[in-house]
Amino acid sequence: MGWDFETDPDVAQELDWVDEFVRTEVEPVDEVVTHAWDVHDPVRNALIKPLQQVVRDKNLWACHLGPELGGKGYGQLRLALLNERLGRSHSAPVVFGCQAPDSGNAEILAHYGTNHLKKTFLEPLVANEIVSCFSMTEPHGGSDPTGFRTTAVLDGDEWVINGEKWFSSHALFADFLIVMAVTEPDAPPHRSMSMFVVPADIPGLERVRDVSVWGHEEPVGTHQYLRYTDVRVPAENLLGERGAGFAVAQTRLGGGRIHHAMRTVGLVGSAFEMMKRRAVSRTTKGERLADKQLVQEMIADTWIQLEQFRLLVLRTAWRIDRYNDYRKVRADISAVKAAMPKVLLDASSRAIQIHGSLGISTELPFGKWVMESFHMGLADGATEIHKVNLAQALLRGTEPDDGLFPPYIRPTLRARAHDRFAEVLAAAADDD
Ligand SMILES: Cc1cc2nc3c(=O)[nH]c(=O)nc-3n(C[C@H](O)[C@H](O)[C@H](O)COP(=O)(O)OP(=O)(O)OC[C@H]3O[C@@H](n4cnc5c(N)ncnc54)[C@H](O)[C@@H]3O)c2cc1C
Repeated sequence: MGWDFETDPDVAQELDWVDEFVRTEVEPVDEVVTHAWDVHDPVRNALIKPLQQVVRDKNLWACHLGPELGGKGYGQLRLALLNERLGRSHSAPVVFGCQAPDSGNAEILAHYGTNHLKKTFLEPLVANEIVSCFSMTEPHGGSDPTGFRTTAVLDGDEWVINGEKWFSSHALFADFLIVMAVTEPDAPPHRSMSMFVVPADIPGLERVRDVSVWGHEEPVGTHQYLRYTDVRVPAENLLGERGAGFAVAQTRLGGGRIHHAMRTVGLVGSAFEMMKRRAVSRTTKGERLADKQLVQEMIADTWIQLEQFRLLVLRTAWRIDRYNDYRKVRADISAVKAAMPKVLLDASSRAIQIHGSLGISTELPFGKWVMESFHMGLADGATEIHKVNLAQALLRGTEPDDGLFPPYIRPTLRARAHDRFAEVLAAAADDD
């Protein structure tokens, strides 16, 4: 029997340390640092860099990366348990060197970058001296990448990029962007695009608008609308083969999606903790909220959803480790991705309701988390698309039944059973 829900004692001890460290040292930083990704902010650097050093000293830096890149090469299951602890805090992923989109971009560079690109971009990225951006979505539509219009044309030993990109997160702080562009217009759609490393200070890269989202308090929006006009990068900035952009993108999206889910478990856990505390602290009509059955239902429903989701995430992480091939776990990752927004939305909504007017105020984070649930349902692919992918995978291999009625209707099953057990039934009838 291989099923086991216990954590090894040494791992449990490490997780306890992480939990305590995040609660006491990192969460207070969230209250004063505007954006933990902004490596140019002196307040951020004064507060976050010493914490990063503590994490390095504890040997917990960038645990998602292999030892050759300065990480620990933790499997996804162990990362899931770690990321649950980090998910409660905005800054914690940065403090532990595993923040999106840098974690995924680092994986792409490690897989496909030349030595020069690794030296120039990957090393400082992994050290969090710089941050990066993944620039793929276009203003006319993100869900259908086969319709992307940004082009890259080889001119001598340089690629020339032209087009527009929308919602390029962290472009505001990034030192480089990974850009998807059409290089093979005549090839089938999934073989038509390639990925490029583009330095952020390059001529021809125009910041059209800084886009903000509801619930975030930064003075400047961190998702940028970008225009690339005759942006020239060296030929070596192509990542992977020409036309292999979709395959390269999958290197980061699989891991990225499951890591968001692991952190969401932490966020929902945090909402649940606050709901319980309020329910036992607040009284109305002579009894605690916790004594009202409808409040109890909210507590019970939240725990059930959280634990169901957590087990799905952990099982998916386990399968990633088991097969070491993202193609074999794509459906599992889609399931996790599709479930995530609703779990966060439901938990945040109930947390608001239990806290009443305080819950809806900006003095508590739940309103932001409601909006965050929509982020989860869009970033890295809309929920609908993941559900479709999942359903297609689940239906694959299921054969159609012949006949007007399916063979599993009760009259058919009963007739078959009567045939099979005819002797026993006849003997029983004789005895009567
Ligand atoms: C917080 C956040 C961060 C992001 N960061 C980045 C980033 O760093 N880099 C980047 O490149 N992009 C980023 N994005 C963009 C993200 O990838 C897109 O939002 C996503 O791919 C959907 O594209 P869209 O917004 O253009 O929506 P559209 O493609 O216009 O889709 C809108 C809606 O239409 C429906 N829909 C679409 N297709 C289907 C379908 N096949 N079947 C059924 N219904 C469908 C869905 O309800 C969907 O939500 C980010 C988005 C968010 C919210």
